[in-house]
Amino acid sequence: MNILARMLHIILPIHCIGCGRRGIAFCDGCIAHAPLANTSEADWIHAHFSYKDAMVRKALRALKYKYRMPIGLVLAGWLYGDVLEFVSEARELYPDRQFMIMGIPSSRESQKERGFNQSEVIAKEIVRLFEDSAVVFVPNVLEKIKSTERQARIEKRSDRLKNLVGAYRVRKPDIISGAHVIVIDDITTTGATFKEARRALKAAGAKTVTAFAVAH
Ligand SMILES: [Zn+2]
Repeated sequence: MNILARMLHIILPIHCIGCGRRGIAFCDGCIAHAPLANTSEADWIHAHFSYKDAMVRKALRALKYKYRMPIGLVLAGWLYGDVLEFVSEARELYPDRQFMIMGIPSSRESQKERGFNQSEVIAKEIVRLFEDSAVVFVPNVLEKIKSTERQARIEKRSDRLKNLVGAYRVRKPDIISGAHVIVIDDITTTGATFKEARRALKAAGAKTVTAFAVAH
């Protein structure tokens, strides 16, 4: 956190990004009004909120700043419900199944600039809420090896997919081999990021890969 961000954190008490109410980063009342995502790019990609909603967009944009990370923790709590449902369903068939949860990495430059990766913070919080030794957080497994143009700047869908080919590498294939992996991201649009991350994880031997995003 840079000095300015740290000062702001001290001066400004936490307030709701929707209504401004003090004491919480994103209050239940505002979240109750946030529309849910109703489409998905694939049956293994899940998203919770609709990114079409202005307040959801505002909340997710705020996550670029570390002092706004309490919003990320609130959103992680909502995403946790979805991941829990998925894990519980899988365990009805396979009671002993273990899961590895990881965040989609950002490029080295933007992580250096911000000092953190919001997807990883969300993934870590979800694992903390699980309180289950069979659901583990695994940091630094995926690595973004290709500096790609920002996805949001690319209009054509086919170009977005092309832009990401070969973008991710698995750093620790030995721990991924045979694993059931859950990847977390803040936003999914075309699913291109998840698809490319899944391709890399599958190539490293992951048995299943399931993706959850805060918004679509
Ligand atoms: Zn509110």
